[in-house]
Amino acid sequence: MAAQSKPLERPRGLFDVLQLPLIGRVLRWRWGRLVLQIPLAIIALLLVIDGFTGPQTASRNLATVTPWIHYRGLVVIALLLAGNLFCMGCPFTIPRTLAKRFSLPGRRFPRFLRNKWLAIGGLFTLFLLYEWLDLWASPLLTAWVIVFYFVASFVLEVVFTESAFCKYVCPLGTFNFIYSTASPTQIAVKNHNICQTCVGKECVNGSYSPTPVIRLDQIAGGAPIEVHYGPDGTPGCGTLLFAPQIKSNLDCTMCLDCVRACPYQNVGLMVRTPGHELIQPDAWPKRWDVSFLVIILAFMGLSNAFGMVPPVYEVERWLAETFNIGSELIVLFIIFAVANLLLPVGITLLAASLARIFTNTTRKFSLRDSVAAFAPAFVPIGLGIWIAHYGFHFLTGALTIIPVFQEFLGMAGDWQRFGAITTDMNIIGLVQGGALFGGLLWSLVIAQRTSLRLYRRDGMLGLIPWALVLIGLALVAVWIFGLPMEMRGSTLFN
Ligand code: SF4
Ligand code: SF4
Repeated sequence: MAAQSKPLERPRGLFDVLQLPLIGRVLRWRWGRLVLQIPLAIIALLLVIDGFTGPQTASRNLATVTPWIHYRGLVVIALLLAGNLFCMGCPFTIPRTLAKRFSLPGRRFPRFLRNKWLAIGGLFTLFLLYEWLDLWASPLLTAWVIVFYFVASFVLEVVFTESAFCKYVCPLGTFNFIYSTASPTQIAVKNHNICQTCVGKECVNGSYSPTPVIRLDQIAGGAPIEVHYGPDGTPGCGTLLFAPQIKSNLDCTMCLDCVRACPYQNVGLMVRTPGHELIQPDAWPKRWDVSFLVIILAFMGLSNAFGMVPPVYEVERWLAETFNIGSELIVLFIIFAVANLLLPVGITLLAASLARIFTNTTRKFSLRDSVAAFAPAFVPIGLGIWIAHYGFHFLTGALTIIPVFQEFLGMAGDWQRFGAITTDMNIIGLVQGGALFGGLLWSLVIAQRTSLRLYRRDGMLGLIPWALVLIGLALVAVWIFGLPMEMRGSTLFN
């Protein structure tokens, strides 16, 4: 334990949030996460109560107003300005922590599911059900979704030793993982030399464990040896990230367990250049599932917004009449399958193929590696699209939470006074335009740097197909957000 007395070196240019006087102390504290989780758990409980027992009008019920207006609006702001704060305070992990106590040793999530295909399927299903069941309009169904979330995270944690729900299943967490790659904070170790001589690797194994939870040579696969949580122990990283090797926010819930478990206080929450990892060639695994998840999520931003503008009804009617389809679910499934799967996959493969042909690198780079190299460029434009969408609902409905809560408490809601932050379409348009234009510019810079790195003097040729895709995404977004959009969950709509 000699390294414990060794002074910690702070990497140049990085600032550790956990060294801040009050915030840092609370976050490092053993129960620090609960400080965020308990208020959010109470809010979740109130939503469930109001969803089951309150008025079934979307704009007058906490169960619909809070998740569909506030959660979504605040989550994109937090991701952009701070990091994955909502996973950090996620109330669904409270029963999960409890479930750890009953977890059977030695069982890991099935190997064939240890990828992001399930997460893509989860997001696809959530957005499909959101439109088909009009989740945004149903307090009761939204309350059931919240209950389902608690049950699913609990069951998966009981059955599997790792945090399978967070890492492989949760659609909300998946969204946060992807867009936290643009955030200005990241978990990192302060001194790599300490890690080299560290015996217990508690950041991933957990502290006070007689034997490791996951042996390091088995992180990529295989079964863990044994699970032990002593009465005072701190669990290691639930998503099996090894602090000294972390280069990305992907899969990091910002739970800070690694910070608390490290006996050398060698892990910090570092401020970095926003999106720093998006221009690092080896920050992400070169896998189809990871690349397509990022690209598909940007396209999902468009299809989700498209579901709220008038032309979607024309498309639905045309499909139903042309193919004689009587089921709305099937019509929506076709629209979402085309917009969220076929289009992004087809366009991506075409862009990658063209870039390789233009630069004469078909033998040098595989299709998979080419797609993986440009996938990070889809993060800023995707985030811009989601900010334009969620920002619209937030700006036009955020203050309705006050009269809704007044009515929840049995008082008269002051609807005259509290409603939109602004209904000035110029301001809303400015926010949306800024998010889209900023996102596009950022994406183009990443794509250009990637192209120059891969194709050198042919870099501008290789950039053309990818730049066209990114510009195309932004133009479609401008078209959609220029159309009248349903003000869901707001009294302006109901
Ligand atoms: S970060 Fe992990 S490997 Fe490094 S000193 Fe801490 S526990 Fe050991
Ligand atoms: S324990 Fe894992 S998920 Fe939690 S903050 Fe550390 S690296 Fe991120």
